[in-house]
Amino acid sequence: MAPRKVPEVYARLGIKPVINAQSWITALGGSIMRPEVREAMSEAATCFVDMVELNHKAGEVVARACGTQAGMVTNGCSAAQTIAVAACMTGTDPAKVERLPHTEGLKNEVLMFKGERNRYDMAFEVPGAHIVEWGMLGGAQPWQLEAAITEKTACIATTFSPGIRRGLPVSELAAIAHKRGVPVIVDAAAEVPPMANLTRFVKEGADLVMFSGGKGIGGPQGAGLLAGRKDLIEAAFENNLNLNSPRAGIGRGMKVTKEELVGMVMALELYLESDEQALIAGWQRKAEYLKGRLQGMTGLRVAIEPFSSRRQGPQPVMYFEKEWKGPSPAEIRQRLLEKNPPIYVGGGSAGNDVNLVMVNVQDGEEVVIADRLVEILKGPAPTKRPK
Ligand SMILES: *Cc1c(COP(=O)(O)O)cnc(C)c1O
Repeated sequence: MAPRKVPEVYARLGIKPVINAQSWITALGGSIMRPEVREAMSEAATCFVDMVELNHKAGEVVARACGTQAGMVTNGCSAAQTIAVAACMTGTDPAKVERLPHTEGLKNEVLMFKGERNRYDMAFEVPGAHIVEWGMLGGAQPWQLEAAITEKTACIATTFSPGIRRGLPVSELAAIAHKRGVPVIVDAAAEVPPMANLTRFVKEGADLVMFSGGKGIGGPQGAGLLAGRKDLIEAAFENNLNLNSPRAGIGRGMKVTKEELVGMVMALELYLESDEQALIAGWQRKAEYLKGRLQGMTGLRVAIEPFSSRRQGPQPVMYFEKEWKGPSPAEIRQRLLEKNPPIYVGGGSAGNDVNLVMVNVQDGEEVVIADRLVEILKGPAPTKRPK
């Protein structure tokens, strides 16, 4: 494959594009938008509109996609988390909305199962709330959650992500929470695909659910989705772009641009129409190609691990066994970055493996990855050293 041309806008800044076999990660740019999405954004940039009205219309599309009463486009899943908690604390009361991030006297605690604490959960605290952990790492029990709910509880938050130690299922959280009038909010940022996850958590009883727009859905990297109960979405609007109040609101720094709003709607609609099985089959084909190229080296076992809640798409994983004499996983990762284009691969899971995530590998890049890996794994042809 001829190397892809470096886009002029990056070349001018001295930036080298990379090959992304690491998934929809923020550090490499999330995802690549389809041409229709890029065109929609470019068209959106050509005139002025009423932004609140635009997000309400976009929200109707989000709500349909998620099977909820209402929805909105947010500045990433992270902002959705922040605005969701703000909404749970303030409702649509303008006096409360105006006070944030000062929350004395408000319900300002977010309950989270201890094992679900994660690197993104500070977003729940941004509006002035505090995370209160419930349960023990030994396992989650319904009575632990019941005992943890107080008059200060604003909501119960739960996160779905690879590597999370799960507490209770959403249905059980909801059953307990709803008896006490407490909403359940779900961070499912990177859980789509599968597409069915767009509607799954609300069906299970969640009051609000949030997703990244710029991961598997393929929207603008900065966009996200928030969907759920109508009253809470109205409260979320009040906290995000509060044009009616003298005070701009806690979500002001999280505004979504008209271009992102329109791009997100287009990406979501295209995603809903897409053939998920065909998409997964494409990842599987690339995985099989790579497995074929990497097979047959002593001490290296390559397996295609299936798509699961722990793995984003079917992916070849290189397991290094006792007989392996070549470079270590850390050296392999390093050397993959040293040539042009740099190749980023997954972090592995068992410590002694390298996983190659196919979801963002563009057509033909699997060949570049295989060539480079074969070169690194087999090492330079042995030369005789002079004594
Ligand atoms: C990516 C991610 C986020 C943040 O989402 P953004 O859309 O980047 O703001 C939050 N939670 C989880 C579990 C994530 O994977």
